[in-house]
Amino acid sequence: MDKIFLIANWKMNPQTAREARVLFDAMLNIGRLKNIETVICPPFPFLSIFGSPKSIKLGGQDLFWEAQGPYTGQISGKMLKDLGCGYVIVGHSERRQYAGESDEIVNAKLKMALKCGLTPVLCVGEKAGEEMGEVLAGQLNECLKDIGKAQIQDIILVYEPVWAISSGVVGSGKPCLPDDALSASLFIKKIIAGLYGRFLAEKTPIIYGGSVDSKNAASYVKEARMQGVLVGGASLDGEEFSKIANSLNNL
Ligand code: PEP
Repeated sequence: MDKIFLIANWKMNPQTAREARVLFDAMLNIGRLKNIETVICPPFPFLSIFGSPKSIKLGGQDLFWEAQGPYTGQISGKMLKDLGCGYVIVGHSERRQYAGESDEIVNAKLKMALKCGLTPVLCVGEKAGEEMGEVLAGQLNECLKDIGKAQIQDIILVYEPVWAISSGVVGSGKPCLPDDALSASLFIKKIIAGLYGRFLAEKTPIIYGGSVDSKNAASYVKEARMQGVLVGGASLDGEEFSKIANSLNNL
């Protein structure tokens, strides 16, 4: 069985290093789970306080598309690597909304992540009222432009319908039914197969994000056949996150 990804996106939380340490320790308590790759994506300032634990991988929430230089406020892929990150989220809908990121920018970031040896966690998904297939096809074609066959399976694709995100700011927090997540996953596979062939489409991990909690996490893996979940709000509660991890471990 392929490993299941459990990726936590802490977003702009918590507010102090002490709280971040406490939350991280709660996640360390989960221990190493057989078939689960747990990745924590904390805010940048906290990345250096966790050391290099064996049971948890670290990821950035974003990176800049240039390697280095006069780009005030930006973070390079090499810095993330140096702080022990193996992963980086790109194209999150909140960055698209608040930082004006276009598919072209996401494409440049994706290429930089790959160049730096980071596994990109590429988020795609439609907003409320948009047509799922049309948005996914557009985003995937643009974001994956000039990404070669040798690299596609190194990218984790996240189907994250914006309307299902629980923040209440960009989304309604209305959970996506596993059946609808399955349709999206099959659609994404079809697009990837068209671009890279069926074999690579089967090898490229697709995970689900949007209002995942301990009650529904397993259904996205079992029923929607996703290879894991991206968890926002529920990853800020150590106990709830442990329950999610255990529900996936028991599949
Ligand atoms: C996210 O926005 O990446 C996310 C998974 O959020 P939530 O779980 O809070 O819906």
